[in-house]
Amino acid sequence: MTPRIRPDLESIPAYVPGRSFPGAVKLASNETTMGPLPSVREVIAEATAGLNRYPDNGATDLVATLADRLGVPAERIAVGCGSVGLCQELVQITCDAGDEVIFPWRSFEAYPIITAVAGATAVRVPNTAEHGHDLKSMLAAITDRTRLIFVCNPNNPTGSLLGKAELEQFLDAVPEHIVVALDEAYFEYVRPEPGEDLPDGLELAEGRRNVVVLRTFSKAYGLAGLRVGYAVADPSVVVALSKVHTPFSVNALAQRAAVASLEAANELLARTEGVVAERERVRSALLDAGYDVPASASNFLWLPLGERSTAFADAAAEAGMVLRNFTGEGTRVTIGDPHENDLFLAFATGQGRALAGIV
Ligand SMILES: *Cc1c(COP(=O)(O)O)cnc(C)c1O
Repeated sequence: MTPRIRPDLESIPAYVPGRSFPGAVKLASNETTMGPLPSVREVIAEATAGLNRYPDNGATDLVATLADRLGVPAERIAVGCGSVGLCQELVQITCDAGDEVIFPWRSFEAYPIITAVAGATAVRVPNTAEHGHDLKSMLAAITDRTRLIFVCNPNNPTGSLLGKAELEQFLDAVPEHIVVALDEAYFEYVRPEPGEDLPDGLELAEGRRNVVVLRTFSKAYGLAGLRVGYAVADPSVVVALSKVHTPFSVNALAQRAAVASLEAANELLARTEGVVAERERVRSALLDAGYDVPASASNFLWLPLGERSTAFADAAAEAGMVLRNFTGEGTRVTIGDPHENDLFLAFATGQGRALAGIV
């Protein structure tokens, strides 16, 4: 007899991470290509000596450092095992079975999974024809069962960005008892157009007690392998998050490395300049080759190839690079080092064109 498992898990897909193979050029998971800074590596190496001890469950040093850097009180900060851990905790603190979680779709793969695992109901609101959030329809989807709304800005996987004014309007229209999570995993790659305001969740959360800002050390800070992210929220939300938090799930190395990375923030953020320049270079080349490529505020590009996406991504894998494919919808390409991007462009502007249906 097989062990008895919750039957509803049958219908929940397991999270599918970016595929890989030995020697692959990895353009599938929106990571940075450069390893941790020497100063960060040193701190990690030193911290290994204390691994016989449990980590600080309150992440006191990291919270204090974040409070100082962000200019918010420590009681408004929660840390998590990656920001995906915090996404999950947010569903847990807001939803009973049957409550509703609204999110744009396509968006971050984890949203529907963590919603279903909590027994809540996912309400997916299709993106606009321009691949951005349809805020009007997201508002229209609110019911008396809505407990949580995810806004992914910039959106993964489409790269689209909501401006400050439209976000403000949206937040003002959401009833104050509904938690809105502004997932800003790629915030450090945002470069507003001249004359446009930076859509900064921390500013938007000022005076809005239902707004939770989520950020991570996995992307621009380059610590994806260590698993640490943070939330800035109302103190009441932070207390609730602490109640569902898996004890000690933010490990000691992650805490130390995150503090050291904040201390080297200028150096790390300078690296994003190169990625942003490459993003624009690759996008221009793809546009020139006849691709439809929405503008991206992130470290990846979205190719809305529809039914052609699988053949395109499979051929790219044959050519040595892993992309992230969303069958029937599109392919997401992470911006890597210039030589990696050149490899991708050689594929996309050569063999890839026919697969993408460009004539
Ligand atoms: C990568 C990503 C995250 C978080 O990743 P962690 O490694 O768990 O911090 C969160 N949201 C989005 C949209 C992402 O793409």
